[in-house]
Amino acid sequence: MDPNEVFEYVTEGMKWLSIGGGTYIATLASLNGILRLFSEKISSQDDLDRITAEETEKLGMTRQVTPKFHENHEESARKLDDGTYEINIGGFGARRTQVRHELYHVHRGHCDDRRRIENGLINNLDYLFRREPQAIAYEVLKLKL
Ligand SMILES: [Zn+2]
Repeated sequence: MDPNEVFEYVTEGMKWLSIGGGTYIATLASLNGILRLFSEKISSQDDLDRITAEETEKLGMTRQVTPKFHENHEESARKLDDGTYEINIGGFGARRTQVRHELYHVHRGHCDDRRRIENGLINNLDYLFRREPQAIAYEVLKLKL
Protein backbone atom coordinates (compact mmCIF):
# COMPACT_ATOMS: atom_id res chain seq x y z
CA MET A 1 0.00 0.00 0.00
CA ASP A 2 1.40 3.39 -0.81
CA PRO A 3 1.89 5.76 2.11
CA ASN A 4 -0.63 8.27 0.79
CA GLU A 5 -3.31 5.62 0.76
CA VAL A 6 -2.53 4.67 4.36
CA PHE A 7 -2.72 8.30 5.28
CA GLU A 8 -6.15 8.59 3.68
CA TYR A 9 -7.46 5.61 5.62
CA VAL A 10 -6.12 7.01 8.84
CA THR A 11 -7.62 10.42 8.15
CA GLU A 12 -10.99 8.89 7.29
CA GLY A 13 -10.83 6.70 10.40
CA MET A 14 -10.04 9.67 12.59
CA LYS A 15 -12.90 11.62 11.08
CA TRP A 16 -15.42 8.91 11.96
CA LEU A 17 -13.88 8.36 15.35
CA SER A 18 -14.13 12.04 16.15
CA ILE A 19 -17.76 12.21 14.99
CA GLY A 20 -18.58 9.16 17.15
CA GLY A 21 -16.58 10.54 20.05
CA GLY A 22 -18.22 13.92 19.71
CA THR A 23 -21.71 12.39 19.78
CA TYR A 24 -20.79 10.24 22.71
CA ILE A 25 -19.36 13.08 24.76
CA ALA A 26 -22.29 15.34 23.87
CA THR A 27 -24.65 12.68 25.23
CA LEU A 28 -22.66 12.30 28.41
CA ALA A 29 -22.37 16.03 28.82
CA SER A 30 -26.07 16.67 28.40
CA LEU A 31 -27.04 13.92 30.82
CA ASN A 32 -24.56 15.42 33.17
CA GLY A 33 -25.86 18.96 32.64
CA ILE A 34 -29.46 17.96 33.35
CA LEU A 35 -28.52 16.18 36.57
CA ARG A 36 -26.44 19.15 37.63
CA LEU A 37 -29.52 21.34 37.76
CA PHE A 38 -30.75 19.28 40.71
CA SER A 39 -27.52 19.64 42.59
CA GLU A 40 -26.73 22.25 45.25
CA LYS A 41 -25.85 25.64 43.78
CA ILE A 42 -22.57 27.34 44.65
CA SER A 43 -22.74 31.14 44.82
CA SER A 44 -19.69 32.16 46.81
CA GLN A 45 -16.17 31.23 47.81
CA ASP A 46 -17.57 30.18 51.23
CA ASP A 47 -20.01 27.74 49.60
CA LEU A 48 -17.20 26.38 47.48
CA ASP A 49 -14.80 25.96 50.43
CA ARG A 50 -17.40 24.07 52.45
CA ILE A 51 -18.52 21.83 49.59
CA THR A 52 -14.94 21.09 48.53
CA ALA A 53 -14.09 20.03 52.10
CA GLU A 54 -17.15 17.77 52.25
CA GLU A 55 -16.57 16.20 48.86
CA THR A 56 -12.84 15.70 49.50
CA GLU A 57 -13.73 13.81 52.63
CA LYS A 58 -16.36 11.66 50.88
CA LEU A 59 -13.85 10.80 48.20
CA GLY A 60 -11.22 9.96 50.79
CA MET A 61 -8.73 12.11 48.94
CA THR A 62 -5.37 12.97 50.44
CA ARG A 63 -4.19 15.35 47.72
CA GLN A 64 -4.27 18.98 48.68
CA VAL A 65 -6.70 21.07 46.66
CA THR A 66 -7.32 24.80 46.68
CA PRO A 67 -10.78 25.70 45.37
CA LYS A 68 -11.23 29.00 43.55
CA PHE A 69 -14.63 30.52 42.98
CA HIS A 70 -15.25 32.63 39.86
CA GLU A 71 -18.15 34.85 38.84
CA ASN A 72 -17.92 33.69 35.24
CA HIS A 73 -18.02 30.18 33.88
CA GLU A 74 -15.05 28.14 35.01
CA GLU A 75 -14.72 24.42 35.21
CA SER A 76 -11.23 23.03 35.47
CA ALA A 77 -8.67 21.25 37.58
CA ARG A 78 -4.90 21.49 37.38
CA LYS A 79 -1.70 20.66 39.15
CA LEU A 80 0.34 23.58 40.43
CA ASP A 81 4.14 23.86 40.43
CA ASP A 82 4.31 23.19 44.17
CA GLY A 83 2.67 19.78 43.74
CA THR A 84 -0.74 20.77 45.11
CA TYR A 85 -3.88 21.16 43.01
CA GLU A 86 -6.38 23.84 42.15
CA ILE A 87 -9.97 23.55 41.01
CA ASN A 88 -11.76 26.45 39.37
CA ILE A 89 -15.51 26.61 39.61
CA GLY A 90 -17.92 29.33 38.60
CA GLY A 91 -20.85 30.57 36.57
CA PHE A 92 -24.07 28.87 35.57
CA GLY A 93 -22.83 25.32 36.15
CA ALA A 94 -21.38 25.95 39.60
CA ARG A 95 -22.89 23.06 41.54
CA ARG A 96 -21.87 20.46 44.05
CA THR A 97 -21.69 17.77 41.35
CA GLN A 98 -19.24 19.89 39.38
CA VAL A 99 -16.92 20.06 42.38
CA ARG A 100 -17.22 16.29 42.72
CA HIS A 101 -16.33 15.94 39.04
CA GLU A 102 -13.22 18.14 39.17
CA LEU A 103 -12.05 16.54 42.41
CA TYR A 104 -12.29 13.15 40.79
CA HIS A 105 -10.01 14.27 37.95
CA VAL A 106 -7.45 15.26 40.59
CA HIS A 107 -7.98 12.09 42.65
CA ARG A 108 -7.47 9.78 39.65
CA GLY A 109 -4.28 11.55 38.64
CA HIS A 110 -5.78 13.00 35.46
CA CYS A 111 -3.97 16.26 36.07
CA ASP A 112 -0.56 14.67 36.59
CA ASP A 113 0.17 13.40 33.12
CA ARG A 114 2.69 15.44 31.18
CA ARG A 115 1.69 13.61 28.01
CA ARG A 116 -1.30 15.88 28.02
CA ILE A 117 0.84 18.67 26.68
CA GLU A 118 3.17 16.61 24.52
CA ASN A 119 0.77 14.47 22.53
CA GLY A 120 -2.40 16.20 21.46
CA LEU A 121 -4.07 13.29 19.68
CA ILE A 122 -3.48 10.52 22.24
CA ASN A 123 -4.39 12.96 24.92
CA ASN A 124 -7.69 13.93 23.33
CA LEU A 125 -8.71 10.31 22.82
CA ASP A 126 -7.68 9.44 26.34
CA TYR A 127 -9.68 12.35 27.65
CA LEU A 128 -12.73 11.54 25.56
CA PHE A 129 -12.88 7.81 26.20
CA ARG A 130 -11.38 7.43 29.65
CA ARG A 131 -10.86 10.48 31.82
CA GLU A 132 -14.07 12.36 31.15
CA PRO A 133 -16.35 9.29 31.42
CA GLN A 134 -14.61 8.33 34.67
CA ALA A 135 -15.20 11.77 36.14
CA ILE A 136 -18.81 11.82 34.98
CA ALA A 137 -19.46 8.32 36.35
CA TYR A 138 -18.26 9.50 39.73
CA GLU A 139 -20.11 12.78 39.51
CA VAL A 140 -23.43 11.18 38.59
CA LEU A 141 -23.32 7.67 40.01
CA LYS A 142 -20.50 7.91 42.57
CA LEU A 143 -18.80 5.04 40.80
CA LYS A 144 -15.05 5.05 41.24
CA LEU A 145 -13.91 3.67 37.89
ZN1 LIG B 1 -14.12 16.61 33.25
